[in-house]
Amino acid sequence: MLTDPATMAPHAEDWRKRYRGKPLAVVFPANPEEVAAVVRLAGECHIGLVPQGGNTGLSGGATPDDSGRQVVLSLQRLRALRAIDPINRTITVEAGMTLAQVQTEAEARGLLFPLSLGAEGSATIGGNLATNAGGTAVLRYGNARELCLGLEVVTAQGEIWSGLRGLRKDNTGYDLRDLFIGSEGTLGIITAAVLKLYPQPAAIMTALARVASPTAALELLQFAQQRAGAMLTGFEYMAAMSTRLVAAHLGAVAKPCLQIIGDTRDGVGPQAADTVLIELSHPESESAAKEALETLLGHAITQGWVEDALVAQSGAQSAAFWRLRESITLAAAADGPHVKHDIALPISSLPAFIAAMDEELEQRYPGIRIINFGHFGDGNLHYNLAPPTLEGNPDTDTRRAHYLEFLGLHEDAIRRAVHDRVMAMQGSISAEHGLGQLRRDEARHYKSAVEISLMVSIKHALDPLGILNPGKVLCLDQSLPGDRS
Ligand SMILES: Cc1cc2nc3c(=O)[nH]c(=O)nc-3n(C[C@H](O)[C@H](O)[C@H](O)COP(=O)(O)OP(=O)(O)OC[C@H]3O[C@@H](n4cnc5c(N)ncnc54)[C@H](O)[C@@H]3O)c2cc1C
Repeated sequence: MLTDPATMAPHAEDWRKRYRGKPLAVVFPANPEEVAAVVRLAGECHIGLVPQGGNTGLSGGATPDDSGRQVVLSLQRLRALRAIDPINRTITVEAGMTLAQVQTEAEARGLLFPLSLGAEGSATIGGNLATNAGGTAVLRYGNARELCLGLEVVTAQGEIWSGLRGLRKDNTGYDLRDLFIGSEGTLGIITAAVLKLYPQPAAIMTALARVASPTAALELLQFAQQRAGAMLTGFEYMAAMSTRLVAAHLGAVAKPCLQIIGDTRDGVGPQAADTVLIELSHPESESAAKEALETLLGHAITQGWVEDALVAQSGAQSAAFWRLRESITLAAAADGPHVKHDIALPISSLPAFIAAMDEELEQRYPGIRIINFGHFGDGNLHYNLAPPTLEGNPDTDTRRAHYLEFLGLHEDAIRRAVHDRVMAMQGSISAEHGLGQLRRDEARHYKSAVEISLMVSIKHALDPLGILNPGKVLCLDQSLPGDRS
């Protein structure tokens, strides 16, 4: 247990450094029984518990408030591999095991755990399930929810529910597993999970393609899905401004990709352009994967959807392409505070949304930078907005002050404009990062009274004392829509 503010500091702040709380303590139980004991004690003392895995969440869900009455419950010591069944293709791991470690354990047995995201070295399976994380392979394998067959959960009463079943079919009443997945630590504490494994493909190959527009990207996606079917395992979109940000802040990462993304810094090469990263997983061989990608992109070039493409010639080059995509979040963090969105739309609506939204924002906020990128194949965009740049080469403090001023003036209006349009187009304001505290009130604004009321009923039923992650997902202090206050 930690109680010293200095040693607790890394657990008191979120990854983006947007929220900072004052925990009473940070506790590190070593097994489910100790987690249960902590929960029972918290219930007796009416202390809020904030479950925390790798603390890489992007919605402030794992950050305590500043009341000094919340304890961070870290799952980091629960990281055992409990079982692996290669024939059933399942792995049972404790919640604190990192996603990268689960991938490594599967790989060591010639199998694949396909969940993959930029923070996988630190993010934990418990956090992935609690946020129903998405990542880069949803297109083929689904979200964290689709990859989980069973759970072990400590309830708000401090009891242990063992639902560690490795079954693909189990219709025995209410699906408790699905209730806990995506509940962001507000209904129970996940201590272990049974996860689905897949055969390792013989080869995974990627290509970068410069696309003429989001409409062209959509044409390419349709064609790739039709041609490659289940072999298509990744389709990521990076608008010109997002790769430009990587080039500006992480030049070495952008360098191997300049032929496609363009390099506007020294006027060499093509104009900075929108880029798509395509990944194929082939059951036969690397050469077959390359050939399939080349055929696909050759057709896309003749159709005019793709202007130029680069098929990776090795695993190292594939990794370099992925590094570009995964570095956008890091480059944005280096640039300064931005207005972040994690939206989902019907895939067919993506080009129309991007065209209309870009135009509206550029007119209302001249010079605004649209850092739009994401899992295009899932209809998920991280449609982020950066303040206009300052003239000259201002130091970091001056730039940060300018950004904060812009956000102070415009963030709420920008967020409302983006979310209003998303909802008008039957989208979602949180595709994969969850609500946490960042989007809690936005969700309340858009969800119907019936939906909020059902969610509140579930929370009251499972956690009547309100000790699990208070203030996240739902705010129980506010009056309810339909006036159930
Ligand atoms: C560079 C970068 C890239 C990212 N890319 C993606 C991406 O592509 N897709 C994506 O979906 N996310 C992405 N994320 C967000 C983040 O990595 C995921 O949300 C991840 O699933 C969080 O895992 P964690 O262990 O860090 O959870 P934490 O941040 O510790 O917690 C997240 C939430 O889950 C709860 N929680 C944590 N552990 C448990 C548990 N055992 N039981 C119950 N509740 C728990 C917390 O209370 C909190 O509400 C990215 C983050 C970064 C920094």
